[in-house]
Amino acid sequence: NREGVHPANLDSYSKEHFPLCMKTLFTNFRTAHHLKHGGRLQLLLFLKGIGLSYEDTMNFWRTEFTKNSNIDDSKFQKEYAYMVRHSFGKAGGMINYSPHSCIKIIMSSIGPGEHHGCPFKHWDANIMKQKLLGEYGLGTQSVNSIIELVNGGHYQIACSKFFEYTHNQPPSNMISHPNQFFTESLNLAK
Ligand code: SF4
Repeated sequence: NREGVHPANLDSYSKEHFPLCMKTLFTNFRTAHHLKHGGRLQLLLFLKGIGLSYEDTMNFWRTEFTKNSNIDDSKFQKEYAYMVRHSFGKAGGMINYSPHSCIKIIMSSIGPGEHHGCPFKHWDANIMKQKLLGEYGLGTQSVNSIIELVNGGHYQIACSKFFEYTHNQPPSNMISHPNQFFTESLNLAK
């Protein structure tokens, strides 16, 4: 675990260093002030893995959820605080849970209105194409090579290419964990 990741840095970290799966969750959480269970777990464990402390996670979670007009503090305590305690091994089976690997995320099933999972596996190829061209400013050739990998079922290689095109150099190893993506990206910025 990294030391000293502060909630105030999360927006810029998300923009510059999160892989697509976590950017998607983070942005949805920030916008809707809510995430369904699968998304909450995937994002929470990732943030824990980048070094967000238990206290900061609880504060960030509470601040974001209670911006939602349907969730007041007592509803937050009843329905959402437990997952934070549980994930940090402070409730339930007292297991200190690890962030999910790419394989686990790729294998997850996604229902309507859910934002977790791996974009390379779970997004419609046309939406992926539009996002990569528009939001991320990748060139047509780069986007086509990513889509080709996606179509062949090579999701982690596609993610590694995404890393390469957005950082002007490939990751040291194929991306196999969202927290690896984050760490390699952050190290390049140092
Ligand atoms: Fe996230 Fe892994 Fe998919 Fe990349 S390959 S978007 S890190 S789950």
